[in-house]
Amino acid sequence: MSHELSVRSRAVYLPDGPRPATVCVDGGRIAAIVAYGARVPAKRDVDLDGLALLPGLVDSHVHVNEPGRTEWEGFATATAAAAAGGVTTVIDMPLNSIPPTVSVAALHAKQAAARGQCRVDVGFWGGAVPDNLDRLAGLHEAGVFGFKCFTAPSGVDEFPPLGWPQLPPVLRALSELDALLIVHAEDPEELAAAPEPAGDRFDGFLASRPPAVEDTAVARLASAAADATARVHVVHLSSAGALPIVAAARDAGTRITAETCPHYLTLAAEEVPDGATEFKCCPPIRERDNAEALWRALADGTLACVVSDHSPCPVELKRGDFAQAWGGIASVQLGLPLVWTQARRRGHPLEDVVRWMALGPARLVGLQHRKGSIAVGADADLVAFDPDAEFTVDAGTLHHRHPVTPYHGARLAGVVHRTWLRGVEVGVNAEPRGELIRR
Ligand SMILES: [Zn+2]
Repeated sequence: MSHELSVRSRAVYLPDGPRPATVCVDGGRIAAIVAYGARVPAKRDVDLDGLALLPGLVDSHVHVNEPGRTEWEGFATATAAAAAGGVTTVIDMPLNSIPPTVSVAALHAKQAAARGQCRVDVGFWGGAVPDNLDRLAGLHEAGVFGFKCFTAPSGVDEFPPLGWPQLPPVLRALSELDALLIVHAEDPEELAAAPEPAGDRFDGFLASRPPAVEDTAVARLASAAADATARVHVVHLSSAGALPIVAAARDAGTRITAETCPHYLTLAAEEVPDGATEFKCCPPIRERDNAEALWRALADGTLACVVSDHSPCPVELKRGDFAQAWGGIASVQLGLPLVWTQARRRGHPLEDVVRWMALGPARLVGLQHRKGSIAVGADADLVAFDPDAEFTVDAGTLHHRHPVTPYHGARLAGVVHRTWLRGVEVGVNAEPRGELIRR
């Protein structure tokens, strides 16, 4: 019998580490993993020789914004950028699109907008907002991967935050469904107590969202999750002060996990030029020492994954000072080389990066049997990657909708050569073969 595809590499990143091997694919799934030199009859035989073969990355934090704010970003462009960056699964955030994904009807609107446009597989988070408690079970049933809420204003009026008193009933409802609540954890009272962001200087913006804003929110969330025996996850953790809170809660038996993002790991507040609003996001990029603590938390497992928080907007909305500009950084295409470039400098092998960016997020959303690792039976989502090649980021060559990035001109290590989705090569010029996936 002849396989549909075989891909050979001297460094196939298997769950127990890299080794020379040949990955055989049938029906979009990994059918066998055999020796590098094995003779395998296959309709297509790809020998990557010196390139590494990684599992496709899973990015569980992407704001696609379509429908409703498609001029910010859409499924075609976001998933083209993902495929180019070695990301084969994207889970779309419930806000910034209109409608936000807070009801089954809204989920269907999203799915209708996405259908036929996606270069990679796309799933959806639902939203938990003050008035949709009775809709959570329906959304869960319809296949969302969990629910997102904010504890402070989200930046868009149609997705209001949950007040702290509104959180326990949501947690209890989700605990009953065994559904995950992912939380943008910033405390509104601490935010109100901090100075207003104003002007062109980044330190003014940083002072408007001090670590206590996050640390207080994470502590309150951990305690509410413990009371409700619910499963919670802190998205885009920036403040290192929240790490011991997460670790202590987890050690005490609370089901709490946390992620961080490439920008918190690789950028430093000290280096943000005045007026450079392309660096604005919430919570903010913090100081160099803070980033080092985040790297240590990845190493010791306090942080479970690194995902992009890809959140683009039109160029005009990034103008103005740090008070006015939209907060968000678009990096779904660059996450892998960004994290690899600095991980390597710190002595981390590539398999650590694969764990943080493929298996970690796959586990978070319960897709680990299908996504995030090269294993027999899993989807044949594969990435040919050259860890030693370098390139310079050019905003104009990125595939997301608007050429705004804080990484323009950065020199990075790690080039994605080819990406396969369920055994078929995908890319900007290929037909969109991504499927809409559900929990
Ligand atoms: Zn986000």
